[in-house]
Amino acid sequence: MTGTQDFDGLSALVTGGASGIGAAVATLLLARGARVAVLDLDPGGAPRGTLALAADVTDDDAVRDAVDRAAAELGGLHTLVSNAGIGSIGTVEDNSDEEWNRVLDVNVLGMVRTARHALPHLRGAAAGRPGAVSITQTCSIAATAGLPQRALYSASKGAVLSLTLAMAADHVREGIRVNCVNPGTADTPWIGRLLGRAEDPAAERAALDARQPMGRLVSADEVAAAVAYLASPAAASVTGTALAVDGGMQGLRLRPA
Ligand code: NAD
Repeated sequence: MTGTQDFDGLSALVTGGASGIGAAVATLLLARGARVAVLDLDPGGAPRGTLALAADVTDDDAVRDAVDRAAAELGGLHTLVSNAGIGSIGTVEDNSDEEWNRVLDVNVLGMVRTARHALPHLRGAAAGRPGAVSITQTCSIAATAGLPQRALYSASKGAVLSLTLAMAADHVREGIRVNCVNPGTADTPWIGRLLGRAEDPAAERAALDARQPMGRLVSADEVAAAVAYLASPAAASVTGTALAVDGGMQGLRLRPA
């Protein structure tokens, strides 16, 4: 319990909510009073107390069924957190068309499909709870940072950023707010998997920490707090915004020019 029950009476669906950032979001929304469903490829890790739904965001029918079930079992849908995503490493010379199609299918079209099926439910909820109905998408500082070895991943997150802004414009008059969070390097199982491939994972982790302006990674809970703010009634006037939770990675210039 956080003591703040600002999601009391609200229903939320979190995609990719069985691990990392999504699981932290689902846990926090639950603690703040929401009824929460998790849509995940592998829902075994969905936090206790959530409605766990198995679906692949690349499967339009499965997404529609899961979204409809969440709305039916939770009593409508006020909050969509579209967070499921996968990584990709390489330059444009490294990744095949097949790999591009796969990552864009999950990271971009996955959010399109989820929104498409959630919007009728969100629209239905907006009149009853003005300011409290929203979509928050997990983007990344990769959308705008120019990171090496992340051509495909960065392009996918650039698309998520543009999509967020366009959706915010399309649905503002319907009372549906649309924002995104841009995490820096966040300490989740995803990063654990990347480090696991290194020759010396502990040394690689120390080097990764040292490259961060704060000398440490961002935590999943810190990203979740930003998502919860954007989704909360306190952010009733916030739409079309990208909120960076990156320990200063993008904004700070620690060495003078
Ligand atoms: P994670 O791997 O810990 O969790 C991702 C979850 O998404 C998993 O539960 C996985 O099963 C689910 N998922 C993957 N593909 C899916 C699909 N096709 N359909 C349904 N569910 C699927 O990763 P994370 O670090 O928590 O990342 C979550 C989001 O945050 C992603 O969109 C990622 O791009 C973004 N992000 C992560 C970082 C980071 O450093 N960890 C930084 C910036 C942005």
